[in-house]
Amino acid sequence: MAEQTPKWVYSFGGGHADGSAADKDRLGGKGAHLAEMSRIGLPVPPGFTIATDVCAAYYENGRKLPDALRPMVDEALVQMASFSGAQFGDVEHPLLVSVRSGARASMPGMMDTVLNLGLNDQTVEGLARRTDDRRFAYDTYRRFIQMYADVVLGVDHGLFEDILENYKALKGYELDPELQADDWIEIVARFKSLVEKELGLRFPQSLGDQLWGAIAAVFGSWQNARAIAYRRLHDIPDDWGTAVTVQTMVFGNKGDNSATGVVFTRNPSTGENELFGEFLLNAQGEDVVAGLRTPQPLTKQASAANGNGKLSLEEAMPEAFATLKQNCAALERHFRDLQDIEFTIEAGELFMLQTRTGKRSTQAALKIAVDMAGEGIITQEEAVMRIDPAQLDQLLHPTLDPNADMTVLAKGLPASPGAASGEIVFDADEAVHMKSQGHTVILARIETSPEDVQGMHAAAGILTTRGGMTSHAAVVARGMGRPCVAGVAAAHIDLERETLEAAGVVLRKGDIVTIDGSSGKIIKGRVSMRQPDLSPDFATLMEWADGLRRMDVRANADTPADARHARDFGAEGIGLCRTEHMFFQANRIVAMREMILAETKEARRAALAELLPEQRQDFIELFEIMKGLPVTIRLFDPPLHEFLPHEDDAIADVAEAMGVSIERLKRRVAVLSEFNPMLGQRGARLLVSYPEIVDMQARAIIEAAIETGKELHDRVRPEIMVPLVATKRELDIIKDRIAETARAVEKERETTVAFQVGSMVELPRACLVAGEIAESAEFFSFGTNDLTQTTFGLSRDDAGRFLGEYADKGIINHDPFMTLDAAVGELMQIGVERGRAVRPDLKIGICGEHGGDPETIGFCEKIGLSYVSCSPYRVPVARLAAAQAAVKNPAVTDR
Ligand code: PEP
Ligand code: MG
Repeated sequence: MAEQTPKWVYSFGGGHADGSAADKDRLGGKGAHLAEMSRIGLPVPPGFTIATDVCAAYYENGRKLPDALRPMVDEALVQMASFSGAQFGDVEHPLLVSVRSGARASMPGMMDTVLNLGLNDQTVEGLARRTDDRRFAYDTYRRFIQMYADVVLGVDHGLFEDILENYKALKGYELDPELQADDWIEIVARFKSLVEKELGLRFPQSLGDQLWGAIAAVFGSWQNARAIAYRRLHDIPDDWGTAVTVQTMVFGNKGDNSATGVVFTRNPSTGENELFGEFLLNAQGEDVVAGLRTPQPLTKQASAANGNGKLSLEEAMPEAFATLKQNCAALERHFRDLQDIEFTIEAGELFMLQTRTGKRSTQAALKIAVDMAGEGIITQEEAVMRIDPAQLDQLLHPTLDPNADMTVLAKGLPASPGAASGEIVFDADEAVHMKSQGHTVILARIETSPEDVQGMHAAAGILTTRGGMTSHAAVVARGMGRPCVAGVAAAHIDLERETLEAAGVVLRKGDIVTIDGSSGKIIKGRVSMRQPDLSPDFATLMEWADGLRRMDVRANADTPADARHARDFGAEGIGLCRTEHMFFQANRIVAMREMILAETKEARRAALAELLPEQRQDFIELFEIMKGLPVTIRLFDPPLHEFLPHEDDAIADVAEAMGVSIERLKRRVAVLSEFNPMLGQRGARLLVSYPEIVDMQARAIIEAAIETGKELHDRVRPEIMVPLVATKRELDIIKDRIAETARAVEKERETTVAFQVGSMVELPRACLVAGEIAESAEFFSFGTNDLTQTTFGLSRDDAGRFLGEYADKGIINHDPFMTLDAAVGELMQIGVERGRAVRPDLKIGICGEHGGDPETIGFCEKIGLSYVSCSPYRVPVARLAAAQAAVKNPAVTDR
């Protein structure tokens, strides 16, 4: 019953639309934005969008379109006819349409499209008469047959290409424009025979069947392999479905006053406020994206900068360009963000075919957000919310050292900024495979297609020999934050032999290559890299973010060098100094091993006495660098397998230092070896058994605090942290020992130091008894690495082997060692609640790897943590993520 069927079809065109930008969930991004453009009076070819609910109905119905859809589509087709005068199926004035996908989230190129639909043996003649252009009509018909047969009927696209290439060779034609009407008529006949031969069926002549077939095929493409893979990669739910938009065709291939192109309202690579894009004269839309012909620049300025002598749109069609410019400004103001627009000019008349939020490099995202806030288009808070914290990482990565020696093999388009070195591979699956084996790879392709997306994701960088700045490779790499050099025409890739040849050099699979996505250079071998100079926009945005956030951001820093980096990136203290890491260097590890391997208390004390001055000196430096900001120093937590010597050389060194025989030392190593070192005598357990370690470390900390520069002395705030605590009693024993040493040092030096003693919370038991632990602990810090390990019962050191398979099989969505698992989060929440029930002002942080993960930071905000701590390079990411979390959770109050 029709009245019970929801509205499934939304018309647009002629300054009206049934839907609007607010209907993105049901009309998809493309459909909703076409409706909105139509509403605000931009020249949009009329059409209609079939809502995403129909996609669900199509699959529920066993891949069949629901019957109730037909009358709605018929009505919408009639409405389209009333706009343009052309009618679907009218032989004298045929209406041609495009049938396109459009999901709620942009999935560029992943689903199917059919263009030029509405032609059969009769209407093609009508089109020829009406346009007075048989050549155009039959060229359009052959394009349609090829695309429809490929997308809807499943005939391999390459077979049509072969026919076309053979025909051209036979006639001695080099380029398509040389083909005349009769040629296209002949090719249409050959294409139709091919379809008959392949399928045993005539190419469909019923326009209704064509349309219905195309709509079903586009809905069907929601479940094709590449769309599914793309959704996995971008966390797009399978049940969203796609909408289908049917729209009046406009033709950019109607001669030299027709064109088609792509324009960004600002430069998506740099963020400059200038129109940026490309167009092709006398071409159809897909030609630009496919990157098969070299496009021309839009503006006079870009054409001058490129220096390839190609006329810009501004020069070739000044009027259409001026209208395009106005429309771009209107769209940007309306949507309040960078727009990525497709347009077509048919016989001098401009049409807007699509607008969407433009993907951009991180550098551009920053500049655009800060500029737009400055221009009053958005607020500062919105600017902060616009930047994806995970993407910020890109800006913090190294770039090529300009003074380095390098052999530049070729230059292409600087399609996505950043530099990367790695082993060259020529196949996307191979890139994925090699990455899983721990290799860093650069993926080299002639051009990329959506099938390559996972390989692009696995690669550290991408290079293509074909395609422009808006080609697939460029757009996708920019969105992923991978460096990319596109269109390296001077390089030749042989996919069979897996070689890249340029400037007389042949690179074979596995050879090292460096690409620079900022300059477009392809370089032989590895090149030294340099830290980036962050733009003033970065500082501005960070300042706005800092003004919004509630949680502090600290860094995990073990050495003075780390601490300096951390300060440079804006860390507000050290949240974790792993003191055992202070002894990783070759010249220090022997003393550490001596201490661990000592057989008697005296021997251990002697080894500790050697470590003391070095520890004290390190702490003094840390305190000085941190200038009164909190510094959390964790007492030794050496999982024994990481610190025991295994190699003969190392054993010999330690034996010599200890003055014992190699044999004896080996026996001692054997005695100390554990079956499960991660769950063995680590952390608090080691400190309980060997309290002399606590004595040494507490002394080093307190003495360092006293010896730190006079003016800083009173401000130094050491926070001494005990690792792997499971019971209050463990903490009490160690805390008492610290207090005893502190009293002794304070007495010797006749001064006092304000320090605190707190606990790592990194075992499920600690979360559960957090109330008891909080009676003694003056602060908590969640060690989510161990908490994840012990909650899952999953070894940190071994999980890598099978977590990949777990992700493939859908057992886990994320690596729980990177993004916090919900169950681990629940334990943290219990820890927070029980800890603060006893000590309401308990300061609580997180210092596991998750402390730099934006999603986890969002969770930390919700449960009211006081700070997050992460590696120095992730500090800016964490500052931004913490600001965004605070904006999203205004109810969380300060601790
Ligand atoms: C943790 O377990 O999360 C932690 C920070 O400590 P470590 O990684 O040193 O075990
Ligand atoms: Mg730990």
